[in-house]
Amino acid sequence: MTTRLYYDQPELLEFDSAVEEISDMSGSEAGAGSRPALILRETAFYPTSGGQVHDTGWITVVGERVRVAEVVEAEDGRVVHYLETPALTGAEAHSRTGADGRFSIGAAVHGSIDAGRRRDHMQQHTGQHVLSAAFIELYQMPTVSFHMGEDYCSIDLAAAALTAAQVEKAEKRANEIVAANRPVRIRYVRREEAEKLGLRKLPPAERDELRLIEVTDFDLSACGGTHVGATGQIGAILLRKSEKTRQGVRVEFVCGGRAVAAARRDFAALTEAAALFSAQMGDVPEMIRKTFEESKGWRRQRDEALEELAEVMARAAVRGIGSSGDRGIGSSEPSGAVAPAERIVITRVFADRDAGFAKLFAQKAVRAGAGIVALVGSTVNPPGVVFAQTPGGTGDMGALLKQALAAVGGRGGGSRDFAQGGVPAGCDLEKLLRDAAAQIL
Ligand SMILES: [Zn+2]
Repeated sequence: MTTRLYYDQPELLEFDSAVEEISDMSGSEAGAGSRPALILRETAFYPTSGGQVHDTGWITVVGERVRVAEVVEAEDGRVVHYLETPALTGAEAHSRTGADGRFSIGAAVHGSIDAGRRRDHMQQHTGQHVLSAAFIELYQMPTVSFHMGEDYCSIDLAAAALTAAQVEKAEKRANEIVAANRPVRIRYVRREEAEKLGLRKLPPAERDELRLIEVTDFDLSACGGTHVGATGQIGAILLRKSEKTRQGVRVEFVCGGRAVAAARRDFAALTEAAALFSAQMGDVPEMIRKTFEESKGWRRQRDEALEELAEVMARAAVRGIGSSGDRGIGSSEPSGAVAPAERIVITRVFADRDAGFAKLFAQKAVRAGAGIVALVGSTVNPPGVVFAQTPGGTGDMGALLKQALAAVGGRGGGSRDFAQGGVPAGCDLEKLLRDAAAQIL
């Protein structure tokens, strides 16, 4: 069991110790992903546990400074320091652990914790205690879990719902405790004693002695993490997103330096948005709302104009074929033929209008008279075809389309009067429509 210096000295960032165990140095048992690791007699490195992520830093052995990339807690209580150094071969391991004495059992080492990272973790973790206690004090919402990520932290509350006003009030209360700079104390008590103290959080019954973290006159809970010495060091607690989860409500938050960084990012984004609108920052939501409304209006006008255009083009196409009796089929200009039994077949490929317009054109065309079949395509990505006939016509557009698509590897379908589908890019639509028209004529 490694002695954990951070339990009683959370401010300790430099320490001396000795190598107690060397793991994974040999090439024989080491898998491809294995890393050298050290276990020390005592350590100030915090291993990932209780929602708090591990420290990083350096271990110096006989003048060699090696990066500590990850620290984990073994089941038996040992703290394992994974080193960021190339995996050693068996021969090297032997010489390094034997001949030159480095990494040998008992060798003196010096540990240095990455101070910036640790202080950040202490701010987030202590902030979490304060925030969890604020949710209890105000709304009796207990925290069921805590997660510390690289960018933000979150707590899960056992609550059915959380309003924006509640979020704001909890944030305000938590920051009052920060501003009051209440001392954060560590003490140890027997389990029976702890049960009488009314802790916010009591761990599962496995240990006789509990380490308690007390935010003076505000929160008392059992915890093995690292915390700041007084709440003022948390800096600030900023609540971000809150969302419903299966178990309750998840609240994202950031503390101290992270809160400042988040505010800076938000400010930069908002400044950029305001500049785009040539507006004041506070006016950005209103500007966005106005732009949405305007674009909705433009879209409606565009749709109406397209519909009118399709109508005009379709009528012109039907009229042109009906009067001239032009039997030519397949040009990208409207073309068609008068089929037996007074059937008019129009084919048309659009290279500058999408499949949506092709559909509009086909729908307008078949409504322009009796016995009309419109075979229309668009080469605009994604390319597609629409086959339609005047409702109740004698053809079967669904079957015709299926046959046409089968030949080119397209997909789609429909009814007797209307069918549509997609075709692979580069497909010769002129030919496809010509072949389909030939089936009817
Ligand atoms: Zn804690």
